[in-house]
Amino acid sequence: MTEKKELLFDCLILGAGPAGFSAGIYASRGNLKTAIIDINMFGGQPSNYFELENYPGFPIIGGYELMEKFEEHTDKFGVEKFPMVEIERVNLLGGLKEIETKENIFKANTVIIATGAQAKKLNIPGEAEYKGRGVSYCAVCDGTFYKDKIVAVIGGGNSALEEAHYLTKYAKKVYIIHRREGLRADKIVCSRVCQNNKIEFILNSSVVEIKGTDVVKKIIIQNTKTDEIKELEVDGVFPYIGLSPNVELFSGQLKQNKNGFIETDVNMQTSVRGVFAAGDVRNTPLRQVITAAADGAIAAQSAIKYLETEPVNITLPFADLL
Ligand code: NAP
Repeated sequence: MTEKKELLFDCLILGAGPAGFSAGIYASRGNLKTAIIDINMFGGQPSNYFELENYPGFPIIGGYELMEKFEEHTDKFGVEKFPMVEIERVNLLGGLKEIETKENIFKANTVIIATGAQAKKLNIPGEAEYKGRGVSYCAVCDGTFYKDKIVAVIGGGNSALEEAHYLTKYAKKVYIIHRREGLRADKIVCSRVCQNNKIEFILNSSVVEIKGTDVVKKIIIQNTKTDEIKELEVDGVFPYIGLSPNVELFSGQLKQNKNGFIETDVNMQTSVRGVFAAGDVRNTPLRQVITAAADGAIAAQSAIKYLETEPVNITLPFADLL
């Protein structure tokens, strides 16, 4: 067995979405030897968004395109990149933090957690069984498979409505099924969706089961007011019912709220010194590309300040500049 290589950094960023990229730009520009690790390809959740229309400076831009720009910008400042890396072990509690992967042991004086969040599951019968065979959590990735078909989008937030609107590019009919009367999505999104005649709302309703043969054929819906049950024939189901944070690796080491999101102060400092959190993974009132990017900048700035005041544990190429 080959020995794992030890790699030393001033700042190690976990997660390469808008928060991670922004943290990388600020940390590296602040003379910290910086690396970003991600379990997937770089880009994070926004890479799967069809379009964004609220990132300042870009009235309309594809999510993938915007993340490519973020990555290019990060490259400009020489951030070391480790995509498609699975983390096996994390120890955040010492002065020198350790992140072990299959091939390397990363050691860093500061860690910025920007691992984001993932689609919450409905946890109903049929959901896991038909994942990839009619159940999808990514309209941009899978929408094209539903040309002239009927799909159901579940949820009443911005994601559900925006992705339902996107799916009408392909599907002949899109149901939005929401568990109550009022929608959570922004008014501008609601009014656009309401004008789309391929979309039909089914309100006060929960999907209680997904059924099919080899692929999805129908869903069972229960009215949340009357308990009435009905069947609806659909070819695809897209749950967009919110996000849960990607925190399994850190659980027990950091303070989290009741939903698992990491608690930070305004400087993105977590309950562990030298560990910062940024973007969707933290307890924040707004989860947008712009707020994630802002969090990343603050977290990196806080990491820089922390290294100026704390005794540094290892000699790094940039340590003499501190
Ligand atoms: P969200 O805003 O939390 O909305 C989740 C929706 O799913 C809510 O309508 C909720 O119902 C429903 N829901 C939750 N659990 C459910 C369950 N078990 N069964 C059925 N329905 C359930 O989540 P999101 O739409 O994924 O958005 C996440 C964040 O990203 C938000 O902050 C959002 O504003 C942001 N976002 C922004 C944009 C944009 O600005 N362009 C685009 C996408 C997302 P209730 O309403 O009854 O709670």
